[in-house]
Amino acid sequence: MDEGYCTCDSCGEVIAFPIDPTADRDQRQIVECDSCDARIEVHIQIEESGDIEVKVNRR
Ligand SMILES: [Zn+2]
Repeated sequence: MDEGYCTCDSCGEVIAFPIDPTADRDQRQIVECDSCDARIEVHIQIEESGDIEVKVNRR
């Protein structure tokens, strides 16, 4: 398991969450902020090099 990071839109907290790099190249996850309980939808892209890119889907 790898770890991804995103920033909470509401409070700015950095949230770490697990990523399974052997699953899809294109993943979506709902991450919950520990500080303010906001739910953040993240889009995870795994490059062929193994690099992980995390984007926050803004509503
Ligand atoms: Zn938050």
